[in-house]
Amino acid sequence: MKEEEKIYRAFARELEEWSRTDKVPSMGNQDIRYYLDLQRERLRSRSLRMEYRFKLRGEHLDNIYSMTYKDQIYTNRFTSSSYLQSTIFSRDGEVVYEKEDPQSFFQTITWMDQQKPDEMYNCPNCGAVSSIETLLDGCPYCHTHFLISDLFPKVSNYYFEHNFFMNNKEFKRKAFKWVFGGILAVFLISMPAAILSYGLSGLLVSLLVSCIPGAFLGYLAMSFGMLVHLLKAAAGEVVKLPNVAGTKQKLNRLLKPYDPNFSYEHFCGEIVNRLKIILFTDDLEESPVYEGQGKVPDFSSIVESVYEGSMGLNRGFVKDGYCYLDLDVYMSDIYDTGRLSRKDDMFRIVVCKSVKKRMDFGFSIKKVQCAGCGGSFDATRQRVCPYCGNPYHLGEDDWVVLSIKVG
Ligand SMILES: [Zn+2]
Ligand SMILES: [Zn+2]
Repeated sequence: MKEEEKIYRAFARELEEWSRTDKVPSMGNQDIRYYLDLQRERLRSRSLRMEYRFKLRGEHLDNIYSMTYKDQIYTNRFTSSSYLQSTIFSRDGEVVYEKEDPQSFFQTITWMDQQKPDEMYNCPNCGAVSSIETLLDGCPYCHTHFLISDLFPKVSNYYFEHNFFMNNKEFKRKAFKWVFGGILAVFLISMPAAILSYGLSGLLVSLLVSCIPGAFLGYLAMSFGMLVHLLKAAAGEVVKLPNVAGTKQKLNRLLKPYDPNFSYEHFCGEIVNRLKIILFTDDLEESPVYEGQGKVPDFSSIVESVYEGSMGLNRGFVKDGYCYLDLDVYMSDIYDTGRLSRKDDMFRIVVCKSVKKRMDFGFSIKKVQCAGCGGSFDATRQRVCPYCGNPYHLGEDDWVVLSIKVG
């Protein structure tokens, strides 16, 4: 198994374990711990537990796909494979919601190519920010010693997306169920009349005559069901199409001239994570990811949010050294309103970032650097530099959300 596959599978197992035991995934970086803590708090405040189960699906669906993008210091591998994912919610020990869904599971795995001893990093034990050199000598705050392999590689980002593909086994199982169901249905319908005319031997007659038409009808019904499923999905896509189509190309055209390292995949991961922080945080004013003035809708009943794999660009432009993007992001959310229900949401958000700074693939909101004095600190805990008192603006380093609406 290649190193990236080992990390990928290990992180999936750790995420399952987190959902059962609250044990933080050791393969995940500080930002992931942060998102997971926010969601865990949300669930706890609603007396809910959420459990994930990941099952491999077999055949070509278990293949791992990855693409690489890098900057001067970091190599990122955007890695995916398919899982049958179950999400189970329970309250007071009783299961209140359960869904099994074939998903693509995307992870961004980050390596540090050249060891940069002066690069800042979060202590994997206590989260305090120090240079890598210092951490290798022992964290000044919790005194834990690390090896460079404890620090890298790490999963720096992940999300799920519905996956439409089936493997042969899944297809055969589905076809078998429908064909058998068709035979059974025709058999049951024809049986009373057959028994009336032939007595008990009518059972056999009825079984014989049901086989071929039943199998045929079952297969037809399955195909029809799959077609409807596909058409419904396609209809959803058509609604999104006008702005979703070409989003990747449009963003590349807009941003590559400022930053040749711009990566659409990395961008999507960051936007989804910003959005999840906004949905799950209870104190948006203190959060570095949002710098808007407008009123934010109440998201406090959302307990799970999954990216649907597409975002559309309504408008994007660069003005006075900042790039602004007006985006529609499609998510599938689970709401808790006494009972749990799933809903497709479209969030319309405006994000902004300075174009002077290139993408930093090692960037984390848990270890930002003050533009005034260069000091490093955790922006999720304070929005003002603790060394010189300068206010921190995430938009100088990375994407920050300026407004959010439910479309
Ligand atoms: Zn420490
Ligand atoms: Zn400062």
